[in-house]
Amino acid sequence: MLQYLVIILDDTSVAYCHADNPLEERNLMPLETLKKGILFGMKQNLMIQYVFPDYALPEEYASIIESIDNVKIYPIGKKPDTGLNDESEADVEVAMDIPENVDAQNLVLRLSFSEMLKQKDEIVKLFAQGKRINLCITDVEQFADEQIEAYKQVLNEWNTALLDLYKQGQSPQFNLLTDRMMLEKMHNCEAGVSNITLAPNGKFYLCPAFYYDERMQVFNQMNHHQPSSDNSVGDLEKGLDIPNPQLLKLNYAPLCRKCDAYQCRRCLWLNRKLTWDLNTPSHQQCVMAHIERNASRDLLNDIRKVGEFMPEINIKEIDYLDPFDVRKEF
Ligand code: SF4
Repeated sequence: MLQYLVIILDDTSVAYCHADNPLEERNLMPLETLKKGILFGMKQNLMIQYVFPDYALPEEYASIIESIDNVKIYPIGKKPDTGLNDESEADVEVAMDIPENVDAQNLVLRLSFSEMLKQKDEIVKLFAQGKRINLCITDVEQFADEQIEAYKQVLNEWNTALLDLYKQGQSPQFNLLTDRMMLEKMHNCEAGVSNITLAPNGKFYLCPAFYYDERMQVFNQMNHHQPSSDNSVGDLEKGLDIPNPQLLKLNYAPLCRKCDAYQCRRCLWLNRKLTWDLNTPSHQQCVMAHIERNASRDLLNDIRKVGEFMPEINIKEIDYLDPFDVRKEF
């Protein structure tokens, strides 16, 4: 069931997930489109998530933006001034480098795999700030099996730091390691299922990445460029029109529906880019998610040596990193 409407306020709004935003020219959503988008969200009872660019919007946008409960996603240090002092606990700041200060309760830190390894000690310092840290690796598609050991090692180092914080009575939140410990079922991105994106052109997309691809004329099966690339799934005039929407759902993903890497993003955009199929995951995504899952299991076991913790959660030991390798057992 749809729960969230992501509204990209401008073509240069900040990218907050796996895909970079390659659009460099400002293209602000017209006020009328914004009003219609909000009305669509109200009628469907959706929580609005605005994605802001790094410049201040014209004054007349503020009251429209605040005409409905919302969550703001914005570039680090560029908190939007909409005249309201109160902020949602769910507001998100997005950084492409380790920030000095984090205002919002949630930080999305977008780094390439190699940058992540280089800055692993700086990342540790973020854990103690009492914020939720979402580390988003921006080049999952480049991940190679030769990097498996390096990923295991850095997660193991971070586990040590997180365990120290738990021992001190803190409850650090770091998506790659602490999410899985708290989950009893899949908690994925669910683009096109629980959330949908409205772009400045008044059209709907499964997520912002599909809009970027359309604007860049990338038809992402093999990254071919085609002038006719159209990724939209409806518009504000005709409503949502997702072809075969059931195929986006977990039940229709044979590997994922039996998998227990519950923290995995199951990124549809990466799926289509790497396997040409929205609902079929790539080796890279599965391997990385399983390394995280297994490291979460280690952390959970270590915390339990200190005291009782999440007794209802059971992460079993497994001997594979890609469910495709053991698909007959699935
Ligand atoms: S690890 Fe692979 S199989 Fe498991 S949920 Fe993620 S994409 Fe699906």
